[in-house]
Amino acid sequence: METILILAHTETDGSLAKPALEAIAAGKSLGSFSVGLIGADTQKAANQIAGCGAAKFLAVTGTDFAQPRYATDTAAAEAIAKAAAATMIIVPHTSRWGRVAAGVAARLSGRADTHVTGVTANSITRWYYRQRMEAQMTRTQRPWVIALDPGCVAPIECAAGTAATTTVSVTAVSRTQVTGVKAPEASQQTIRPDAKLLFVAGAGWTKKQADSKTHVPEAAELILGFLNASKASLGSSKSLVDLSGEGQAVLPFMSHLNQIGQTGSTPRHPKGLSTCCHGEEPHTVGWRFVNERRAISLDPNCGWARGKADVLYVADSFAVMRKVNALLAGK
Ligand SMILES: Cc1cc2nc3c(=O)[nH]c(=O)nc-3n(C[C@H](O)[C@H](O)[C@H](O)COP(=O)(O)OP(=O)(O)OC[C@H]3O[C@@H](n4cnc5c(N)ncnc54)[C@H](O)[C@@H]3O)c2cc1C
Repeated sequence: METILILAHTETDGSLAKPALEAIAAGKSLGSFSVGLIGADTQKAANQIAGCGAAKFLAVTGTDFAQPRYATDTAAAEAIAKAAAATMIIVPHTSRWGRVAAGVAARLSGRADTHVTGVTANSITRWYYRQRMEAQMTRTQRPWVIALDPGCVAPIECAAGTAATTTVSVTAVSRTQVTGVKAPEASQQTIRPDAKLLFVAGAGWTKKQADSKTHVPEAAELILGFLNASKASLGSSKSLVDLSGEGQAVLPFMSHLNQIGQTGSTPRHPKGLSTCCHGEEPHTVGWRFVNERRAISLDPNCGWARGKADVLYVADSFAVMRKVNALLAGK
C-alpha cells in the first residue's frame, strides 16, 4: 500500500492556488493521503482545505520558505516527505515545483516524473514527443515524486474549517535572496491558462495586405480589443514572435511565452480560434488538447483546411475580427 503525500506551496496571500487543489484531488482519488504545506504561514491554506479528507496536515513554515528558492524548497519538501514516510509524493507541476521535483527525489533516493497528466494507484500517464504519444508508466522505485501538469484534474472542492497542522522543522541554508518580482501589469497579462478560449495570432497580422501595406497598429488594436472583451488567452505562432529578432514591425505585447507548438506550449483550453496563421504541423501540435478549433485564413489550402480545424473561415481576419469586436461591444 502506498503512503500518499501531496505537497503544495502557499501563494503570497497564504492561500492555495488551483494547481495545488488539482494535485490534492488527484492524490485523494488514490486513497488515504496527507498534505504537506510550505510557506511563510500555512494555517490559512490548511484551513482552506480543512475538509479535504487528509489524514494529516504537515507544515514547514517560516519567512525563509515564502520565496521560491531551490535550497529552501528542496529542504522543506524532503523534510515533510521523510516525516510522512511517503512513497508517492504528488506535487503540482508549477515552475516552482518543476525546478525542485527531481532534486527532492534524488535527496530521498527516489525517482521523479514530470509533466504527468494522470495518476492511478500504481501508474502515471504522460505524453512524449511533444504530445504525440501517450505513455502509461509504472515504477518500482520509491519514493516516487510525481509532478502533475495543471489542468488535467478538476480541483478539489471541500469545506473550509480549522485544520490541525503538525509542524516539521527544517534548517535550510541558503545563499540566494529573491529581491523582487518583475511581471507585466495585470492588464498586459495576455496568457490566461484558465480562459475558455485560446486566441492565436499568426504572422499574417504583420504581413502586407491587399493594399500592399502592413497594418500592424490596427492588428494590435483588433487583437487587444478582442482579448479585453472576451478574456481569451493569447497564443502565437513561432513566425510571429520571431519577427522582432528579424527587425520587422511587431506586436509589442507578444513574446516567446505566447508561442504555441512543438517548441512552444501545449495549453489546455476547451476552444481555440486561430487567425492569420497557416496551421503548420509544428504549430498545430501545440493544439493537441484544444478540443474545438476554428481558424480564419485567406489561404483555402492552409494546414487548418487539412484536418487541423473543425471550421475554417477563408476570410480576412482584419474584417472578421473588426466585426466580432463590434458585436462584442453591442454595436
Ligand atoms: C523544429 C521546428 C519547430 C517549430 N516549432 C514551432 C512552434 O512551436 N510553433 C509554431 O508556431 N511554429 C513552429 N515552427 C514553425 C512552423 O513550421 C511555421 O513556420 C510557423 O508556425 C508559421 O507561422 P504562421 O502560420 O504564423 O506564418 P505564415 O506561415 O507566414 O502564415 C501566415 C498566414 O497568414 C495568412 N494571412 C495573411 N493575411 C491574412 C489576413 N488578412 N487574414 C487571414 N489570414 C491572413 C496567410 O494566408 C498565411 O496562411 C517550427 C518549425 C520547426 C522546423
